[in-house]
Order: sequence, then C-alpha cells, then structure tokens
Amino acid sequence: MKMIGLIGGMSWESSLEYYRIINEEVAAHFSRAGEGDLHSAEVVMVSLDFAPIERMQADGEWAAAADAIMRAGRQCVAAGADFLVLCTNTMHLVLPDIERRVGVPFLHIADAAASRVKAAHAQTVGLLGTRFTMEGDFYAGRLADHGLSVITPESSDREIVDRVIYEELVQGKLLEESRKEYRRIIASLVEAGAEGIIAGCTEIGLLVNQEDSAVPLFDTTRIHAEEAVRHALGSRA
Ligand code: GLU
Repeated sequence: MKMIGLIGGMSWESSLEYYRIINEEVAAHFSRAGEGDLHSAEVVMVSLDFAPIERMQADGEWAAAADAIMRAGRQCVAAGADFLVLCTNTMHLVLPDIERRVGVPFLHIADAAASRVKAAHAQTVGLLGTRFTMEGDFYAGRLADHGLSVITPESSDREIVDRVIYEELVQGKLLEESRKEYRRIIASLVEAGAEGIIAGCTEIGLLVNQEDSAVPLFDTTRIHAEEAVRHALGSRA
C-alpha cells in the first residue's frame, strides 16, 4: 500500500471527511478481500491554517498561495508520501505552477470528477464551487479537456454559492435556508441542461446530497478520496 499525502486544512471540515472516507474505503477493501477487519490507510497529512490562505485568495496573491501549497507538499513527501492529494478544488488553481517542483504526482480532483461523470454517461455538467472554481478556467477547462460541457449558475446565484462556502460551510455551519438555496440553484442548472452536478467544493457535500438533486450529484470529496485509495492500493484495488 502506498502512503497517501493529504494537503488539508482548506478547510479542516472537509479534510476530516477525506481522512474518514480514505480509512473506511481501505478497511472495506481488505475486509472484502478476507484479509481481516483491522486495516487502515497509510496517510500523512499537512493541514494548513485556512485564514491566511483565504486572504491570499481574496487578494489574488496566487504566487504566495502556490508557495504555501508547495511547502506543504514537500513536507508530506519528506514524511514519506508517495503521491499527493490536495484536499480542495479551489487551490488546484495553483497546481500547474508547483506540480513538477514537489517531486511526486498529485491526483487532480477535476480529473477524478470527470472520469466519474463520464462513467455515468453525463456530458453536460453544472459546476458549483467557490467563485474562483466557477469563474476561472483552471477547473472548467480541465473538465472540457475530458470532453465535458460545463454550465455554472447565473451571477447572483454564484455569489450565493460562494458566500455560503466561506461564511458557513468552511466554518462548519450547515443552515437549512442555505440548503434550500442550493437546491433551487441545482434545479436551475438542471433546467439549463445539466445532466449531472459537480459539487466542486469539498464542503458542499456536507450541505447537500443526492436527495437534493434530480440528476446525479458528483461529490468531489468522496470521489477524490476514493481515487486516492485506488491509487494507494494499486494493483490490489
Ligand atoms: N474547500 C473548498 C474547495 O474545495 C473551498 C476552500 C478553499 O478556498 O480552498 O474549493
């Protein structure tokens, strides 16, 4: 089993989910294989303080943010990580700048999401995430490279989705009125032609799930964590 390196803390609310899902999936794998029920994942996590990261995002200081992610990645590698999982969609924005300099591969969250979407035979997806994820090209462009068409909510709804992430979800606040707003926004994306919804922020799965969507909902936290397990187990998976 390979050692998984998690770069977390963005936010810790979702890093906790990664750690839980990865360990549950590894345990289930070995249990199914008849190798006992005591297995768990080999993981190292470097968890960053989110406040300075959020400030760098808001101020557009992406070079400084890239440096912070690169340092965390190198710390994971020094602690034995064989590959890296950056536990946030948004910060994948800086990945092209640092990937080669860290020394081990990153499992890109959008690649993992795209392969699940394609396996479900969806072609047009609605994308929810921070304003950086919904409005930049680093994420939608990567999905498009996989042949997917991406639609995002209209401007005022993007503001709501983004505000709920930063003012509520990353702080562990799960509010019913925000769940209703997300449901409404998901429905509008389906109305606009989405055949699937990518929950492209690692905290969105804490607020909404498949029951809140008339089309398949792709939770990037779960998908990314499961992909990490598949990679860690290699030919055993
Ligand atoms: N965890 C979030 C994401 O997946 C947002 C927090 C951040 O800006 O890194 O994009």
